[in-house]
Amino acid sequence: MQSAEISSRAFRFFEQRGHTAVPSASLIADDPTLLLINAGMAPFKPYFLGEAPPPWPRAASVQKCVRTVDIEEVGKTTRHGSFFQMFGNFSFGDYFKEKAIPWAWEFLTRPVADGGLGLPESKLWVTVYTDDDEAEHIWRTDVGVSPDRIQRLGMVDNYWSMGVPGPCGPCSEICIDRGPEFGPEGGPDTNGERYLEIWNLVFMQNIRGEGPAKEGYPIVGELPAKNIDTGLGLARVAAVLQGVKTIFEIDTTGRILDLAAELSGTKYGQNSKDDIPLRVVADHILASVMLIGDGVTPSNEGRGYILRRILRRAVRMMRLLGAQEPVVHELTTRTIDVMSPTYPELAKEQDRIHGTAVGEESAFLQTLKSGTAIFDLAAKEVRTSSSLILPGDKAFQLHDTYGFPIDLTLEMAEEQGLSVDEEGFRRLMAEQRARAKADAAARKTGGHGDKTVYRDLLQLGATEFTGYDQLESEATVR
Ligand code: ATP
Ligand code: MG
Ligand code: MG
Ligand code: MG
Repeated sequence: MQSAEISSRAFRFFEQRGHTAVPSASLIADDPTLLLINAGMAPFKPYFLGEAPPPWPRAASVQKCVRTVDIEEVGKTTRHGSFFQMFGNFSFGDYFKEKAIPWAWEFLTRPVADGGLGLPESKLWVTVYTDDDEAEHIWRTDVGVSPDRIQRLGMVDNYWSMGVPGPCGPCSEICIDRGPEFGPEGGPDTNGERYLEIWNLVFMQNIRGEGPAKEGYPIVGELPAKNIDTGLGLARVAAVLQGVKTIFEIDTTGRILDLAAELSGTKYGQNSKDDIPLRVVADHILASVMLIGDGVTPSNEGRGYILRRILRRAVRMMRLLGAQEPVVHELTTRTIDVMSPTYPELAKEQDRIHGTAVGEESAFLQTLKSGTAIFDLAAKEVRTSSSLILPGDKAFQLHDTYGFPIDLTLEMAEEQGLSVDEEGFRRLMAEQRARAKADAAARKTGGHGDKTVYRDLLQLGATEFTGYDQLESEATVR
């Protein structure tokens, strides 16, 4: 079953149950706490918080999502993309668990001939939050799930929030057992690859405060109503239904991956050394096209930095795989071709998308050309001195003179089994910023700050760090 068919079935199923189909919001979040939309519920946040009246009591959408917290996982796991589409059905103070749970199960297991997805009940597992007896009761008695297929998990896994203060609530996840090929038996609690999580049902009823998700954040209040927010990963379901192992091989993303293999002269499925970068390329090009499509442009800050980072990473992976020529024009053309049946605006905007993406590739190839030799030399020096740490001043020089973002230096160092003195790097960056400030102050008071130098420093002052810090501070989104 094709991805587009899965989403149209989901819409039909929930429209028949009183939901209004709502188009995806832009990836650019209309929310100061969020850089990019990371879940289907994000555009509806004001309705959950009671800040605006919901236009409909029930809605359904397929939302474009980008999760920067998952970037490092891309390609290494079979299930994490940086961009993905999330189907969701939502209730704004209307129905609650008693309907959301049986409907999700029904949609997944109903025969294909009757509008469902036809997944075998015998392979499905569910998780519920530690003390959510109500949800477990519904799973057992209303749906008939056997108790040995239900696991209770704690705050980190089964208490959902956007990763930032805002609406939250206990959740219940539906996972499918993909068999021993993906790991040993044990249930979703033990292995997220074998027991692939496909759908999360969130019982949105509380307000989350500040604090790291990992340790369990404080609950600071109750929402005005009890709501339902669900998230079904389209690519994950597509992988299951299409009988492929990863979300990078499905009908859409798989065609980008095929082209990446062709352009780099590699073959997918031969060894993980090539397979992981091929998946990363497919994912990152897809994410880049979707971001540019929504108006993001590469820059050294915020969203623009996320785009710059993933697009450059894809270009670099292609070089490592063996591509000698620029690849972005062809890869973005394929991506637009694959995605525009669902997002027709991509075809209309293709000149702009190509222009932005190809421009970034050219700039980066230039950077790579001048900086790689310097990096290699530095790495060699480090090794001959029998150290495994690239000094901070080298990382700084690469940044300052050759425009190497620190992430790139970190990644290249890691590939060579080296680490980087990040603290030293940060210190030099801070010193540079302080110098720029002092120069500015001197200029203001009629001092002799060199204008050109000052301007250059100021530009460098808005370094990758803003973006880097923002990425870091975006708390884990479960
Ligand atoms: P996981 O535990 O596998 O990281 P999650 O619990 O973080 O997933 P949710 O926040 O519950 O995911 O999101 C709802 C659904 O969206 C998931 O059940 C999954 O199907 C899908 N999903 C989440 N993250 C990704 C991703 N990075 N790529 C593709 N699909 C995803
Ligand atoms: Mg999970
Ligand atoms: Mg989840
Ligand atoms: Mg996750």
